[in-house]
Order: sequence, then structure tokens, then C-alpha cells
Amino acid sequence: MIDRNKLFDTHAHYYSQKFNELEGGADGLLTCAEFQNSVGCVVNIGADIETSHCVISQAKKYDFMYSAVGIHPTDAQNVCGEDIEGNISKIEALLDTPEKRRENKIVAVGEIGFDYYWQPVNKELQYEYFYRQMQLAQKYSLPVIIHDRDAHGDTFDMICRFPNVCGVLHSCSMSDEMVRQLCERGWYISFSGTVTFKNAHKVKAACAAVQTDRLLSETDAPYLAPHPYRGQMNNSVLMSNTVREMAEIHGVSYDEMLRITNENARRFFGID
Ligand SMILES: [Zn+2]
Repeated sequence: MIDRNKLFDTHAHYYSQKFNELEGGADGLLTCAEFQNSVGCVVNIGADIETSHCVISQAKKYDFMYSAVGIHPTDAQNVCGEDIEGNISKIEALLDTPEKRRENKIVAVGEIGFDYYWQPVNKELQYEYFYRQMQLAQKYSLPVIIHDRDAHGDTFDMICRFPNVCGVLHSCSMSDEMVRQLCERGWYISFSGTVTFKNAHKVKAACAAVQTDRLLSETDAPYLAPHPYRGQMNNSVLMSNTVREMAEIHGVSYDEMLRITNENARRFFGID
């Protein structure tokens, strides 16, 4: 049972080695009083085969944590490589029965998508991994978590190829126009700390364009800490700054935006 008055972080990477810099590591953070008092739920997101196993074992340790498994486009190139079939079947093996999905606390396929920022870019390989994982999501009726960096057009085209797959655009950097079209398709749009950055006019405009029943909030921890913590290590507690900014953009109170993002996240992931 998720506390509806607490933060629901729809996207974090708590297996990251960066958390070892903290006293007690990620476990110390996740069990501290401040975290427990303000964070109600976290979806822990895999990026390759190894980290997809990590998110599962971490989610099993914490009642408030769920997992998403998948291969990130940059990791597809740098970690997984040409054995697409072999790697996709390893992801599929984690979720191919209702029992496994329940046991592994899997609520989505992700993160998957396109990343044209980190060079060199192998578009064909990224496409194959993305396409095959959209197929997986369709086959098992799971939502997807989409990473799109400098690849808005191709990402949108892929989404359109799978009208039966619903998903969320994570740490949105698309235009307000594209975001409106995604909402019309029933998709959700998630905002990270980037929406709080002073010069992030495009992200703020996109947030304003999302109908409130499609808004999600996230950290992408340990990355993308919100203002005034920009550049520091991020964690779910700091997400209150992001929710506050989203509330201001939509002209509602902080408590109302907290309730909205929490309710939307539970509906999207099918978590009570
Ligand atoms: Zn991420």
C-alpha cells in the first residue's frame, strides 16, 4: 500500500556506484528517517542486463520499491553489443510469466529508446534494441519507459509504430507540440530536476502543455538533481523541488501536485 501523501519517484537508479560515496551507501539513504518520511514509492530502472538484475534484487529488499528492466540505447552500444537476440532473451527471461513479474516486482520495460547525444551513435543497433523491447512490452502488456535524447522525431515514430503500447517519456525534453500529441495517444510525460533549471524554458513549456492526469515526476537519481542542488548527487527526497515547480507551472498547490503525480503513477504502473 503506497502512501498517497508522499513522493512517488517514477525513475531512479539506486544501484549506481555513485551512492557508495554516501555513508552507508544506497542502503543507508533508503532506510534513513528523512527518506522514509517523505518518499512513498520508487521505481528502480535498469539500463543493461547486469543492472536489470540489480534493480530486481534491490526492489525485493524494500516494500516501497518496484523495478523496470531493459536495455538503454547507450548501454546497447557500449555494454551489450551485437548479440541482440541473446540480450533480449535475457531480459525476457526476467518477465515472461505473471509469477516472475510479481516475484521480481516488474512494473515496466525500461529504460529503452534513442540517445543521439553520446558519440559515436550506432542508429541501426539502437533501433533494433528499441524495437525488440517495444515488442516485448506489447507481448506482455507492460508499459514502457522511454529515454529520448536528441532523437525526438525518431522516438515519436517508434512510439507510433506500436499503438497498443503505452508508456512514459522520461525526463521530458520534447517540444510542447510533441508532448500534446503523445498525451492524445494516452501517453504519460515525466519531469525530472531539469524542469526546475532557470533557463529551461522549453521544458517548462512542455510541462505546461501536459494535461494534469498525464503528469509524472521523477529524479533520475543519482543524476539531474533539481535547483538549488543542480550538479550534486540526486535522490528521491530532493524531488519535492521538482513537484513544487510543476505545481507552480500548473497553478495548483504543492499538496495538490503531490496527490496528482502520486495518483497518476499508481494508475500508470498498476500499483495500489
Ligand atoms: Zn534513467
